[in-house]
Amino acid sequence: MIYYYLTLLFVFTFVLVQADVKTNYTTTKTDPSKISIPDIPQTTSNDVATECAYYNSEYTVNPAEWPTIWDIATSNNMNTSQEFQDLYNSIDWASAPNIAVRKASATGGLDMTGYDTVNDPDCWWSSSQCTKPKHQGCNADIVNCPEPGTWGLTFDDGPNCSHNAFYEFLQQNNQQASMFYIGSNVLNWPYGALRGVKDGHHIAGHTWSHKMMTTLSNQEVLAELYYTAKAIKYVTGITPLYWRPALGDIDDRVRWVASQLGFTAILWNLDTDDWAAGTTPGVTPQTVDQNYQNFITMGSNGSFVNSGNIVLSHEINNMTMDFAIQHYPAIKNAYKHIVDVATCMNISHPYVEQVITFPNFDQKVNENASTATGSGVVPGASQLPGAATSVSAMPSIILIGILFMTIAFVMI
Ligand SMILES: [Zn+2]
Repeated sequence: MIYYYLTLLFVFTFVLVQADVKTNYTTTKTDPSKISIPDIPQTTSNDVATECAYYNSEYTVNPAEWPTIWDIATSNNMNTSQEFQDLYNSIDWASAPNIAVRKASATGGLDMTGYDTVNDPDCWWSSSQCTKPKHQGCNADIVNCPEPGTWGLTFDDGPNCSHNAFYEFLQQNNQQASMFYIGSNVLNWPYGALRGVKDGHHIAGHTWSHKMMTTLSNQEVLAELYYTAKAIKYVTGITPLYWRPALGDIDDRVRWVASQLGFTAILWNLDTDDWAAGTTPGVTPQTVDQNYQNFITMGSNGSFVNSGNIVLSHEINNMTMDFAIQHYPAIKNAYKHIVDVATCMNISHPYVEQVITFPNFDQKVNENASTATGSGVVPGASQLPGAATSVSAMPSIILIGILFMTIAFVMI
């Protein structure tokens, strides 16, 4: 019986050590609950040229320690760094789903030749918009806010250097959103990322280089996720447990790798197509306005009486941010609530760091305006995040470990 106990102790310790490797991303100078941003023209101006002038910050980047900006995150020999090797070797790759790396098509899309698109065995979103994994060990995607009459507000591709006026608008409206930040942008525009955390937005990852994730190897997928989280942690002091794949390109192989880090994907069920206006044939600003209008109509025509949505939009440039500003009053009229995804999913701790707590949905919609701003620290909320894997499930792992050991003692 003592061997049984020792085995349990060993396994329990091993789990703790494993989780520790994955949570110790980097050191940071930032206390995410006490962020201050210097008053420089780049952080205060609403003129794009002024905002987007390069600046030096205290968040210096030693190029040897990071992937090349905008290249796949294994670049600059990051795949051979000790830090990445340790992470890679901590994962039981033998348990990974046996799914092929996809190929990009000649036109820059995805080549689905040979894939069983009818049965969609790998829950490949790009093929079928599947979000419920079919393989073991994968966190299911979040795809809509469950609360009726609720607009899940999300913006991809930040932090954008020209977002001051947009973030000002959100702040004035006491409005939080889920912001999906690209790792390369975070290192380029650290004060932009800090503003997102300071304003109480829900920050999530959006990969390092914005490639289609199913076309990357396991090692590349891991590096894209890891170094994005590391960049966000380095600058803002928080490590996001949620992320969004570029173009929604995710399958069970990518989900499994993300799940090893304790990450859960947030997709969407309504797409404004805002980024495409003027750059994609057939998509004009009027097209995007009509998309917004259709989604607004859905707020009052019964489409969302039983559940809410998650809407994909972008902070990629002033045009996309302006679409959101222009339509915001009408969205507010048509929907009962507009919230970030952490709040609508009752995810009180969307980051590894427990110092930031998000209100649950009921708290958020009932709280008065004066308590809704600031660092996002709201006392009283204690619900665990939805991702039930190594990092986010740590308190559960500890409890289960203690329970097992107690049982073992009783049996001895
Ligand atoms: Zn994107």
